[in-house]
Amino acid sequence: MADRMPFLSTPREERARRDARERVGDWREVYRPGALLPVVGGQAARCMDCGLPFCHSACPLGNLVPEWNRLVADGDWQAAAARLLATNNFPEFTGRLCPAPCESACVLAIDGAAVTIKNVELAIADRAWERGWDRPQPPERPSGRRVAVVGSGPAGLAAAQQLTRAGHATTVYERADRPGGLLRYGIPPFRLEKHRLDRRLDQMRAEGTLFRCGVCVGRDVPADELRAGCDALVVAVGATAGRDLPVPGRTLPGVHPAIGYLTWANRVDEGDCAVSPLSAEGRHVVIVGGGDTAADCLGTALRQRAASVTQLDINPRPPARRAGGQPWPVHPKVYRETTSHEECGAAAAGPRVFAAATVGFEAGPDGRLAAVRFAEAEPADRSPRAGTERAVPAELALLALGFAGPEPDQPLTAQLGLGTRPEGTFARDDSFATGVDGVFVAGDAGRGQSLIVWAVAEGRATAAAVDRYLRGGTELPAPIRASARTLTL
Ligand SMILES: Cc1cc2nc3c(=O)[nH]c(=O)nc-3n(C[C@H](O)[C@H](O)[C@H](O)COP(=O)(O)OP(=O)(O)OC[C@H]3O[C@@H](n4cnc5c(N)ncnc54)[C@H](O)[C@@H]3O)c2cc1C
Ligand code: SF4
Repeated sequence: MADRMPFLSTPREERARRDARERVGDWREVYRPGALLPVVGGQAARCMDCGLPFCHSACPLGNLVPEWNRLVADGDWQAAAARLLATNNFPEFTGRLCPAPCESACVLAIDGAAVTIKNVELAIADRAWERGWDRPQPPERPSGRRVAVVGSGPAGLAAAQQLTRAGHATTVYERADRPGGLLRYGIPPFRLEKHRLDRRLDQMRAEGTLFRCGVCVGRDVPADELRAGCDALVVAVGATAGRDLPVPGRTLPGVHPAIGYLTWANRVDEGDCAVSPLSAEGRHVVIVGGGDTAADCLGTALRQRAASVTQLDINPRPPARRAGGQPWPVHPKVYRETTSHEECGAAAAGPRVFAAATVGFEAGPDGRLAAVRFAEAEPADRSPRAGTERAVPAELALLALGFAGPEPDQPLTAQLGLGTRPEGTFARDDSFATGVDGVFVAGDAGRGQSLIVWAVAEGRATAAAVDRYLRGGTELPAPIRASARTLTL
């Protein structure tokens, strides 16, 4: 008799990663090719098809997780792909990069190991591309309306794809030389190989979306002129204003924002230059910060063969398991080892120091950065504890302190007459409208620094709002409202 309860008999198994020593020698994705398919069917079968699937409600996209788990377990991959693509424009990105709040909320995670939802998603997405099931969907008939989208990160791309498919002539304006936003120039190739992004962009072009790169709206094209020349405008410019660290020595040569460092590494991967001008090669590196960006700097510095890498995180080390204040199904703050941290043992990485307050940067005799000073952070206010200061040698310091919001001095803001909130994001109502006629805001620019899955959900919901504005009604899905937030207590 078939096993009716594989969630009891089958342990959770994630797809295998390549050996860390091999990984740090190249820039390819960290996972072992072909490792997913042999395990994923059995893993999908662990899904209990819950009557109240919390995985589904924890996903901003409303991914139909139990449905595609069942279809994969039954071997009906094409139907699974159709259900996956019904709610997510870019599952090949979220399947690789999402921190998977759906898995934290999986009912199996209450007292055991969640279904490997993200792996199942990725297996379906990759198979859909291989088999030609994720093909261009040009509109059946043009609407006669024109939409401009400013910014080509996941929010702008999702909005543009939905609007083009709905029949609106959509042009994406991007100030960088290539589209993709942080998918292109933030996230390193060992987490997202860029041919996957190019493939999706080719699909969007085949559907009719136009891209105009190297155009900074507000500087190269006045934003109000752009608005006047189209029927609606979506601002999806991200939250790219990095937080700074105003401590002595901050302006020394050798101290850089992380995003510039990651952009250069991605440019080398694109073939724009042979060596990054900010390469870590042979240098002692200190990364200040504890999030995704810091981990990406770590993996990049290891691959550039840094002499040593030390990561200073001002937060205390999180607990290994959910703390009392973070019960299921919230996405808990627990200790996580990224693939970059896993690689530390295979390369010359120094310690990951928690509760470390950076107090200053010191110059050497040549006037360049020579050391970073830090102290233990007081638990109450994260201030440096007296008498605990020490220094670590550094020729390159990378500031990965998160992002405050859209760049505050962008000319686009005044040209369009956009309002801003105290936290720096653009003001908008619950349906993504700014109050300026026909102007909408999507993604990190409205939400603040967030995740790809939220950016895609924002892009889809904003497209629905634009379509309603243009036609008086819409059939496009709107998975979230602008005020929706991650499940927290
Ligand atoms: C290093 C790093 C790693 C990350 N890793 C992950 C991860 O693993 N998983 C995850 O879920 N999230 C991750 N994130 C967060 C995620 O990348 C963002 O939340 C997401 O990209 C936001 O999408 P967006 O479209 O709103 O903005 P962005 O991706 O920032 O795109 C905005 C675009 O607008 C363009 N632009 C700005 N102003 C103008 C203008 N005036 N004219 C024309 N173009 C303009 C910018 O050049 C940019 O291309 C990471 C972020 C960073 C920095
Ligand atoms: S919560 Fe977990 S077990 Fe339940 S339907 Fe979702 S993935 Fe399946």
